[in-house]
Amino acid sequence: MKIIRTKAELRALTETWRRAGETIGVVPTMGALHAGHLSLVEAACSATDRVIVTLFVNPKQFNSPEDLANYPRTEESDGKKLKPYSADVLYVPDGAQMYPDGFATTISVTGVSQGLCGAARPGHFDGVATVVTKLLLQTDADQAFFGEKDYQQLQVVRRLATDLDLKTRIVGCPTIREDDGLAMSSRNLRLGKHARATAPVIREALLRTAEAICGGTPVSNALASARSHLHENGILEIDYLELRGDPDLEILDTADRPARLFVAVWLDGVRLIDNLRVQATTAQDGLLELVG
Ligand code: AMP
Repeated sequence: MKIIRTKAELRALTETWRRAGETIGVVPTMGALHAGHLSLVEAACSATDRVIVTLFVNPKQFNSPEDLANYPRTEESDGKKLKPYSADVLYVPDGAQMYPDGFATTISVTGVSQGLCGAARPGHFDGVATVVTKLLLQTDADQAFFGEKDYQQLQVVRRLATDLDLKTRIVGCPTIREDDGLAMSSRNLRLGKHARATAPVIREALLRTAEAICGGTPVSNALASARSHLHENGILEIDYLELRGDPDLEILDTADRPARLFVAVWLDGVRLIDNLRVQATTAQDGLLELVG
């Protein structure tokens, strides 16, 4: 696997691949790779001839300088983790490659980027949309792989790729979890021992809520008891806990169509997110089916 740091070198390589008629996949990441990221790399390697993994801690998507400063930067061990896979390139641009002097363009997606993390983290999705658009263009990718763990981000990326007529197909991949159900995240490394032991209650609360909704409990009651459950089990700060329509992410107060539960909490000074699909069925009994 080659490490490339400049757009010019990357372009020279992708042009060679194109001349040979090869397809290109990209996996955008901010590094600190774990099994969740590696599942995307695996999906890319089996879908396209050539695979580029990008590693760029994008300052434009952080709304707190402290969060940006604390974000883990582990390029060397990331390179090692990628060795068993057949990715061709680890693309590691620096800030000057991505945002040269005079950079003045922002890609801003409305609708799906509002609410949830968009409300809690102003400017976050503008930063994501801008960097992802650039990475899709720089890598000339036919397919790009994103995790459902960041489901709102996936919908923002799908929207921008459609709206900007990008050729890249956006592929969503399932959330990879620890054995106790906690969604894998680079931020989990920052949890203290006690907080790490508490964190699985996030997924548990989603499962209980989905089950309650599927069993006919009104959505607002199910969400209220999930909040209590989180509080009672050591999660004192909830950013949001909501049911949203899928894929438009409109807020729902009845689960009468495909939907997802979304949660963001603070634990030990670390912000954790998760989501779970709640699928309305057309079953004659009118009950909902839990599939997430
Ligand atoms: P990040 O490095 O956090 O920006 O994430 C890079 C990509 O990995 C994004 O598409 C994420 O959605 C995806 N990702 C992060 N965690 C997971 C996970 N636990 N399972 C699947 N994909 C993930």
